[in-house]
Formats: sequence, structure tokens, C-alpha cells
Amino acid sequence: MNILFAASELTPYAKTGGLGDVLAALPAELRARGHSVAVALPLYRQLRASLAELRRAPLTLTVELGGRALSAPVWQGTTRDGVTLFAIERDEFFDRGQLYGTADGDYFDNAARFIFYSRAVVALALTLEPRPQIIHANDWQAALIPALVRAGRLPFKTALTVHNLAYQGMFPAAEFALTGLPGFYLKPHALEYYGRMNLLKGGILLADALTTVSAGYAREILTEPYGCGLDGALRTRGGALTGILNGIDTELWNPATDPLLAAPYDARRVTAGKRRNKLALLEELGLPLTLAERPLLAVISRLVEQKGIALILRALPLLVERGAGLVVLGAGEAAYEAELRDWARRCPRQVSVSVGFDERLAHRIEAAADIFLMPSRFEPCGLNQLYSMRYGTVPVVRKVGGLADSVADGETGFTFSDYTAEEFLRVIVSALEWYPKAKKWKALRLAGMRQDFSWSRRVPEYEKIYAQLTGTA
Ligand code: ADP
Repeated sequence: MNILFAASELTPYAKTGGLGDVLAALPAELRARGHSVAVALPLYRQLRASLAELRRAPLTLTVELGGRALSAPVWQGTTRDGVTLFAIERDEFFDRGQLYGTADGDYFDNAARFIFYSRAVVALALTLEPRPQIIHANDWQAALIPALVRAGRLPFKTALTVHNLAYQGMFPAAEFALTGLPGFYLKPHALEYYGRMNLLKGGILLADALTTVSAGYAREILTEPYGCGLDGALRTRGGALTGILNGIDTELWNPATDPLLAAPYDARRVTAGKRRNKLALLEELGLPLTLAERPLLAVISRLVEQKGIALILRALPLLVERGAGLVVLGAGEAAYEAELRDWARRCPRQVSVSVGFDERLAHRIEAAADIFLMPSRFEPCGLNQLYSMRYGTVPVVRKVGGLADSVADGETGFTFSDYTAEEFLRVIVSALEWYPKAKKWKALRLAGMRQDFSWSRRVPEYEKIYAQLTGTA
């Protein structure tokens, strides 16, 4: 099959979260199985800076945006897995410090930026030889593509994957003019959402196939509490929505070969191996080495409400009182950053908080920690609990979305249901009580390490959807 992926992130070049990780792995896995696959991204500053192989292709698209004809040179390269990469240049939109916005808020012109990008991807698809059969759009930034394909009666099938329903690309109706679509599309059956333009809603209603990143989340988002206002739209597409749990890049995240670790280890040497990494991390973060004898808990997360940071703050007094260590790596809302930093200041011998985005530190924390905390309010898939299990770090998660689908209570981790500090504390206490029982703890660790979260298990599910779309099923 011939598939063009449209997405606004690609790890390691341009990433804010799990979306980038998926784009780094799923297309590569499809390619390994013989499909013809390419990924189209905006040419961000970050991409140009880090991807030396990217070259200006002999192709310049002309993209209509709100009545203006804008030129968009196309750059082409190959990822380390051999996937063809197209990057769409328009420096006024993409040559910026961040992908979507700064701490002060989203960029004011995100509608124009990603409508431009979506229109450019469609224009690109029309020039490619052989022509892609499927454009696989991801999240709101590419969610206009199904509408563009329909309105233009273009010879593509479209799939849309929702990685997080909370981000919808909602803009004033006045921005609709940028899409170039007939006014008929700014109606509730397409892009209109209570008088505004909602790009994700349009994608949900108009894509030929719809997927999300876990079976649990696929069920949850059909309901009002998890539907972020789009549960009604999703229910009308209920039959077209498939939940496929994300895989992980098992080469990048392999404790036995991970070059970022102080000391790589495998399942046979998990206890000693993790201890060496723990000592190295404590030293790196300036925590006392005596903390190696205590359970070390970790959080690596965007610091936003979704991730249950409020519950982590509520759990902190108990962790400190019990003599545990806590290592946090994250960035996000200023208030959370400040409150966490305050804890690190007050308890410098037990709590370390690193604000920022740091891939290397993320790997080293996964290798060093004993317990990983992920008390999300909602979680489409979640990757860090998967990385944790692979690194023998026991996850404590809320039983929701992809967390519920991937962590088995008492077997590979600990789970709780109600989003309350009491429930979260209750499972943390259980985990802390298991921890000193060396044999039981090791069994938990090994059970997690034995799980198979590789993409090769997931890809057939995507192939099935593509085959249905192209009538080759
Ligand atoms: P989301 O996409 O909602 O942020 P996921 O768990 O699906 O959550 O994916 C998060 C990804 O981003 C993981 O790869 C995680 O390791 C990474 N990550 C999040 N915050 C940081 C950070 N501050 N530094 C390094 N990696 C981070």
C-alpha cells in the first residue's frame, strides 16, 4: 500500500509528546513490511537544524490561503529508518522557537499555520508519483485534510488518528475563510462547533476511517465525561472508530543497549543494573547517595491538568514522610512548575525537579526509578508507562484509557479508579509496601519487562484498516 502520513511532530526532530513518537515508529514499521510510506511535516526550525540530510526538492507548491497564493518549497529527506520525509517550507509560519506556542499561550496564527500545512499536504499528495492511496492525518493540525479531499473529490482515502481529543484546533468562524472550503462546510455536519470552527470535529466527521490510540480511550470518548464536547460527533461515527494501542520503539527504548544509560542492563541483571543507574542518577541530580536504599519514584510528563499533577502534589507530603525519593522531569503550566520547584527547594535531599524537555534525562530516569507515577485524569494511550515496564520500573497509574489497557494491577503495576488523592495515596502505599519484599518486587519488574509493546504487533491492525479503505480487504 502507498500511504502518506500527515502529522505535526516527528521524534526526535520535532516533538512535544507521544504524537512524535508514534510518527517515528509506525511509518517505519509499515515500511519494513513492504509498504510505501512517506511523512509530510511543516519545515520547522527544529527540523531544519537537526536533520542534515534534508534537501530542497525540485518542487515548489502553490498553496491558496484565504485568497492569497503562497509558494511552499518542498524539502525531502530520509529518516534513520528509511522513511521518506517531506517538509513544507514557509518560514513566516514555521521558522519559530516552538511548534505551537510559548508559555504565554498558543501562537496567534495557528489556524493559518496548520490550514496552510494541511492544504500543502494535499497539494503535495497530488504531485507524488506513484500517488498515495491513503492520506493518514493525525490530530487537529492535519484534521482539515479529509474535508479538503472530500470537497475537491480527490482520489485519496483518508484516515484520521486522534491522539488526544482535548486538543481540537478550535478557532473563530472568521478563520474558516482560510480553508478555501465552500461555506457549506461551516455547518454542524462538518467543521462548525457552536458558531466556531473546529478542525478536529471536521476530521472526525469526514475521514473515511477513524482511529484512536487505545481501545479503552475509543470507548471512553463516546461518552460525555471523556468526549471533550465531541462525543456526539464521535457517536455518529461509532462504527468507524477503532482503538489501536500505540506500540513503542523497542530499539530506542531498550535498557540492554540504551547508550544514554549510565549502565545498560537486561532482565537477568535487573536488580543490580537498576541500582547502578539509580546511583548515577542520584549523583547527577545532586541527591544523597543514601537515597539509593529507599524507593525512588519518578514522573516524566507534560505538567498539565490531564496528567494528574494535582494528585502528585497531594501525594508529596506522604512520599517525603516515608523517606522516599521523587524525581520529576517536566514542563508545562507555570503554577505546577513553581509548586514542584518549591518542593525541591524545601526537600533537597529527597525531591529533585527538572523543568524542561530532556530526552536523555528521561531515559536515565526510566532506568533508575523504582516506581513511575501516572495518575492521569484521562489518557489516550500514554507511553511512559510502557517505557517504564520495559525498563523494569513499576508503574502506578489511574485505570483509564490506554493506562487501563496496558497495566495489570498487581501483575505489572498498580492501578486505581477514582480520580481522588485518597485513592492515589492508597495505591502508592501498597506499592511502597511491596517494594521491600525483594522477590515479589522483582517478579513485578520482570512481568513488566516481559510484555511485548512492539509496533510489529500493532501494524496488522492498521493494515486491516488500510485494506478496508482501499477495497483490498
Ligand atoms: P503525551 O503525548 O500526552 O504528552 P505520552 O505519555 O503519550 O503523553 O507521551 C509523552 C512522551 O513525551 C513520552 O515519550 C515522554 O517520555 C516524553 N516526555 C514528556 N515530557 C518530557 C520531558 N519533560 N522531557 C523528556 N521527555 C518528555
